[in-house]
Amino acid sequence: MQYVGLDVHKKFTARFHRWQKLKFFEGYTSADKPGKKETTCPTITLVRDKNFLIVVDPGVLESQNILVDTLKREGLSLEDINIVFITHSHIDHYRNTGMFPNAKVIEYYGVWDKNEVEDRQNQLTEDIKIIETPGHNYTSLTLLVKTDIGIIAICGDVFWKENYPEIDKYADDPEKLKKTRKNLLEISDYIIPSHAGMFKVKK
Ligand SMILES: [Zn+2]
Repeated sequence: MQYVGLDVHKKFTARFHRWQKLKFFEGYTSADKPGKKETTCPTITLVRDKNFLIVVDPGVLESQNILVDTLKREGLSLEDINIVFITHSHIDHYRNTGMFPNAKVIEYYGVWDKNEVEDRQNQLTEDIKIIETPGHNYTSLTLLVKTDIGIIAICGDVFWKENYPEIDKYADDPEKLKKTRKNLLEISDYIIPSHAGMFKVKK
């Protein structure tokens, strides 16, 4: 499936034309600007591979219609999504999980199919792998996706933006976060952080 730029909603980016498997809604946050009323939305990523249609971090949105309309533009509906992947248990990343009636939900504790839960497998397809990336939160998972341009890591709040923040005031284990970040930068070519667009890892 070819990546086609989306321009209907201004927050969608269309910078990576050779990108085959992913599209994303660029997140934002003002959590790092104290004094103002905070607004936050995570970067929401759509990944398509084999039979899987995955939404990573359906987030919080000013309106759930944004997600509905976005999928519609791709010829998709909420019913088509069969996996929701949650990068970690902070509500700005998972509030909209219940929007997808046919989706299994993958999170740190396991894979949920309605009220049934089973253990999580780390290899989703040949090209999609789940790794644990603790530090910001002990429930942090990263989805590694192999594409034509290299390995893309969808890492939740391991990075909020490009190599940012240096000090994560919400990290429950700063030392682990340091190690996680170092490892992630080594194994990835691109990173999709939690509250900004994708960036290329400088090697
Ligand atoms: Zn978080």
